[in-house]
Amino acid sequence: MKRILSTLAILLVFAAFIFFFVIGGIVDQQMNVCMHVEDDDYDISQKALDLHASLNVADWHSDVLLWDRNILSEATHGHTDVPRLIKGGFALQVFDAVIKTPKGLNYHQNTGDTDQITLLAMANRWPIKTWGSLYERALYQSKKLYKAAERSNGKLRVITTQQELTQLINDRARDIEVVGGMLSIEGLHALEGEISHLDELYEVGYRMMGPVHFFDNLVGGSSAGVEQYGLTDFGRQVIRRMDELGILVDLAHASPALIDDVLSTTSRPVVVSHTGVQGTFDSPRNLTDDQLRRIAARGGMIGVGFWDGAVGDPRPESIARSMRYVSDLIGVEHVCLGSDWDGGTTTYFDAAHVAVLTEALMEVGFSAKEIRMIMGENQLQFLLKYLPS
Ligand SMILES: [Zn+2]
Repeated sequence: MKRILSTLAILLVFAAFIFFFVIGGIVDQQMNVCMHVEDDDYDISQKALDLHASLNVADWHSDVLLWDRNILSEATHGHTDVPRLIKGGFALQVFDAVIKTPKGLNYHQNTGDTDQITLLAMANRWPIKTWGSLYERALYQSKKLYKAAERSNGKLRVITTQQELTQLINDRARDIEVVGGMLSIEGLHALEGEISHLDELYEVGYRMMGPVHFFDNLVGGSSAGVEQYGLTDFGRQVIRRMDELGILVDLAHASPALIDDVLSTTSRPVVVSHTGVQGTFDSPRNLTDDQLRRIAARGGMIGVGFWDGAVGDPRPESIARSMRYVSDLIGVEHVCLGSDWDGGTTTYFDAAHVAVLTEALMEVGFSAKEIRMIMGENQLQFLLKYLPS
């Protein structure tokens, strides 16, 4: 009997070790794939490299905070961490907090009845209070970024105001090795129906929020939800309070009705942080020409995604083609990077090798000035105007 019990205890400890220290890493490695991680995998022209070296690169969407990874050291999988962002010439990366994703996740129809993040939060040893609370998950991911910044020897700075962004750009111009990180939320189910949580999330650094992710919630409908409604009454209250606080609205994943409702409710320009466009690739999550025109008319920003579900296939040529399309339709001043790095995506290149996109943009006929805008200046100028001061 004693022997059986001690064998069971050993098995239990072993199972716990696997669950808490191995599973999260395996899921991360399987879900976040970079097709080319070695410098030798790339053949980028000197002209593109020279232009790229002078850029302030910026991107609207990475989900790396979700995973059990130290973003201060360079990983051999996935796409974003501080060393790779610095190598790629990034001035700013937006880090998104993913809060809840349904099982069997797809682009067509999901309910909010199931959740995969609970298990991941456990496996990644997040604090116990995050296991049952969507709001705590948002607080925790903000803490994670701030802690990384503290331990980064000045290489990572959390950006929350116009002044901090100006300082960052000036420091980079003086050859200081530093990248900025801005916090965003993917899905305002994080509020758990409490408007006061919005103010608290602003306090812990969140400066952009997407009302929805893969399912309809208390704020509004998702492009992959069941009913795909517009803003709820609570949602209207949320958007108004976001406007007051100066939190940007991210319309990625929004249902068509939600896009319409947000545009008629907010007084500020919106961002679509990671998306594709119907004009180059037909997907329920991609924007129509009409939506693009209306978002542009309000001064909005379009982050073009780097993965197959956004642009058809992840080749730099395909991303550049979608960017060319958006630029021709609504103007180059609205086109930005919206990678969806580490968002369960397979991409051609990681943050360190983003110069391959500079080259692809040259090949579809963008001028050096336009490439500078797309690769980062559009996003930075927008944030210099619309972040709180
Ligand atoms: Zn997303």
